[in-house]
Amino acid sequence: MAGPRPVVLSGPSGAGKSTLLKRLLKEFEGVFGFSVSHTTRQPRPGESNGKDYHFVTREAMQKGIQDGEFIEHAVFSGNMYGTSKAAVQAVQAMNQICILDIDMQGVKNIKKTDLNPIYISVHPPSVEILEKRLRDRKTESEESLQKRLKAAIEDIEISKEPGLFDAVVVNDDLEEAYSKLKGVLAEGIKMAQTSKNS
Ligand code: ADP
Ligand code: 5GP
Repeated sequence: MAGPRPVVLSGPSGAGKSTLLKRLLKEFEGVFGFSVSHTTRQPRPGESNGKDYHFVTREAMQKGIQDGEFIEHAVFSGNMYGTSKAAVQAVQAMNQICILDIDMQGVKNIKKTDLNPIYISVHPPSVEILEKRLRDRKTESEESLQKRLKAAIEDIEISKEPGLFDAVVVNDDLEEAYSKLKGVLAEGIKMAQTSKNS
């Protein structure tokens, strides 16, 4: 695949993936581009259509999948999510490093493609802290929160599989986690900046 290697950020819901990637997108404007996924879940306050997600109906999503528009798709906590070919192509067309925020099923399915990204798992310091952060975020119903915690415990176990991830970033102190993430991506950032300035 031509262009800079994409980056997959995965890890439990509430681990801090969005927080970390928003910082990257802000600090390295023009270097990274976000792959805007499709989802059937409802937008949260502050989320905008086309920026955080393409918010779609189940019918529209199913049709897109049938028509071969998706690189991967999964059901997470009762809602459908997927990465469209167009979302990744839009970022790559701008010669930016494409960042994907996807769940564990997405990681396993992307491994079957020729995308060849760097796989990074973001972990919370503990499940207790994860629960507190998810509750404090005030975005989930009790049912959704419980589903996310169950998935988190499973995902933390699966992510120990040797070779599944290139790096694990434990998001305890945000500054430290962000520095570690930047360290993992340093080579790609340097290459992207050099090619932009030449
Ligand atoms: P994800 O995208 O993985 O679901 P978020 O980025 O939404 O997770 O983070 C979950 C919540 O935890 C958010 O309310 C966020 O502000 C908060 N958060 C993220 N990182 C930290 C951190 N290092 N310390 C404390 N709170 C954090
Ligand atoms: P949230 O509802 O909190 O935004 O996302 C829930 C989960 O879905 C997170 O683990 C997130 O990484 C994952 N997710 C978001 N977009 C996609 C996608 O396109 N594909 C897959 N497989 N998972 C996604």
